[in-house]
Amino acid sequence: LLSLENATVRFGGQAVLDAVDLSVAEHEVVCVLGPSGSGKSTLLRAVAGLQPLDAGRVSLDGHDQRGIPAHRRGVGLMFQDHQLFPQRDVGGNVAFGLRMHGASKAEQAARVQELLDLVGLPGAAGRAVSSLSGGEQQRVALARALAPRPRLLMLDEPLGQLDRSLRERLVVELRELFSELGTTVLAVTHDQGEAFALADRVVVMRDGRIAQTGTPLEVWQRPADEFVARFLGFDN
Ligand code: ATP
Ligand code: MG
Repeated sequence: LLSLENATVRFGGQAVLDAVDLSVAEHEVVCVLGPSGSGKSTLLRAVAGLQPLDAGRVSLDGHDQRGIPAHRRGVGLMFQDHQLFPQRDVGGNVAFGLRMHGASKAEQAARVQELLDLVGLPGAAGRAVSSLSGGEQQRVALARALAPRPRLLMLDEPLGQLDRSLRERLVVELRELFSELGTTVLAVTHDQGEAFALADRVVVMRDGRIAQTGTPLEVWQRPADEFVARFLGFDN
């Protein structure tokens, strides 16, 4: 479904994505792990069409995406800082992508309800975004990203601000949801437990490069190098 070849992004001479090659198959759930500043968000933004490449390419279904704007790529992105529309209520935020796809009012309302139930915010549809806590806003952003059923769903720290019990519940529910819908997912997290619970495959990034990719078990049992081992916490 997705492939990056030699994908490179530079800021001020520094390669933030450094010749990255990565493929994601249909229905696959891939989690990107790595320290802060390793290029995880830049990778997602490049796939979404929000960050132009300085070299290399992003292809979806074998088609080079150069010049194809974000809204035409059929991918969903939930941002790290969620970026909800403050002037719309919760329901309006969740329904945003549905309206763009021409769903009827009744379809929109039913889907909004279903998604708000899923993220644990039933009854929040009419609330102002500004009245929600950070974690609640994050859940609304997750619901908004899921709403149009994108062929590739990209999540940047989707559960970052949530408390432990909610994270654990949502990881299980997301895992079920993705396999039920056959959603292809590329998700960033720096919580290894979360990555290992969600992912068919994990990608560990370091300084804009892929340090290792493999199933959670492979990476866990045979870290490719010292960096991966230390990042996974095997430092003694
Ligand atoms: P975090 O875990 O903190 O979110 P990340 O792995 O998502 O980190 P990125 O946001 O991809 O990291 O950033 C990678 C590097 O690129 C960082 O050093 C960042 O400062 C730099 N960077 C990102 N966007 C820009 C930009 N627009 N201009 C200049 N530098 C940038
Ligand atoms: Mg980031």
